Amino acid sequence: MNAKKTETPRSPKTTVSAPHPLDSQMASLNQGLMSLYHASAELQFSKPLGSLLKSILRGLKSGTGISKAAIFIKDESSFSLNSCVGIGLNEKKIEEMNVLLTIDEETDLLKTCQSPANQPSANPALDRLSELFKKDLEFKNVEMLALEIRDHLVGLLVYEKSSAPLQQEILIIFSRQAALTIENAKLFAKVEEMALKDTLTGLYNRRYFNQILDYELNRAKRYHQPLSLIFIDIDHFKEINDSFGHSMGDQFLKQISQKLSSLFRTTDLVARYAGDEFVAILPATAQDGAMILARRIQDVLSHYQVMARGRTLQVSVSIGVDTYESAEGIGSMTLIDRADKAMYEAKAGGRNCVRSYQEVQKALA
Ligand code: GH3
Ligand code: MG
Repeated sequence: MNAKKTETPRSPKTTVSAPHPLDSQMASLNQGLMSLYHASAELQFSKPLGSLLKSILRGLKSGTGISKAAIFIKDESSFSLNSCVGIGLNEKKIEEMNVLLTIDEETDLLKTCQSPANQPSANPALDRLSELFKKDLEFKNVEMLALEIRDHLVGLLVYEKSSAPLQQEILIIFSRQAALTIENAKLFAKVEEMALKDTLTGLYNRRYFNQILDYELNRAKRYHQPLSLIFIDIDHFKEINDSFGHSMGDQFLKQISQKLSSLFRTTDLVARYAGDEFVAILPATAQDGAMILARRIQDVLSHYQVMARGRTLQVSVSIGVDTYESAEGIGSMTLIDRADKAMYEAKAGGRNCVRSYQEVQKALA
């Protein structure tokens, strides 16, 4: 049987032509935009900063072809860059990196985002950083882009330029995303801290103290452990305000708070309860241990000289202690009330002394 061959009609010109340069540019731009879209979508979720920045780096990779990159975050207090995340690099080396920045280097880094072409080769002031990244992170050709918010350096993007032509605009948009993400995380941490801490003294506030006391009391009950509470009130504090003014009183409270928090263990929690009243939770601490600590605090503070505006001030404190010892069914409010009551007994007993609720009860019996 003769199968008749059906010829597919051919177009007169079937030569495969190379893609038009404009087409490949459009395709790469499209790819970049899609990566941006996906990375931004991930940023909607409240994830830890590290994983948000990792998403940005993954987006950067698919959007620009950069396969080796790291993001550093600037630590304001130590003027250094701490590495945070990376792609295509040795994770352990990234974690270990901490780079101290000079003021000149910081100024020159900021120029990289005004003009990304302002790279180490064109700016010898950045040579030290460039060499450091090449050596420690094994980059061949290192490039840097400052992550800035309102002319302040918040971080640094370090990357190895890909061989493919780079979409500079996409790179810049990703770096802005990273800068905003870092800034948001810092603001969020600040707001969180403000919600927990007292603004004048920097100690935990009463709201946080109440939360932790509930938690620690439940733990003490569950694991059959003691828990003590120390209630401290400054003696005649009003006199300091009256004699030297309220702002001097504030300075005084600040310094006493610092001294006070240095006297506790890191596992204890010290808070400003109100005005000149402070409280501390001592987990897993029985009455005798809490009394030893309370007497030490009373003694140390009675000798502590506070320097405020060239004057030396001295005060004493009255302290009440209460301890949850065994299978009592008490709640945290009762514990606070009892420690407060013991503190008032210390005031009534002449101030500058310590009383425990249990002592007060015995005396009444
Ligand atoms: P006492 O020995 O009985 O405790 O006498 P006191 O003068 O310390 O009296 P009390 O503890 O009842 O009052 C505390 C004072 O602390 C009242 C208030 O004027 C002052 N105070 C409360 N909060 C602040 C503050 O934030 N800053 C300053 N400077 N003073 C405060
Ligand atoms: Mg007082």
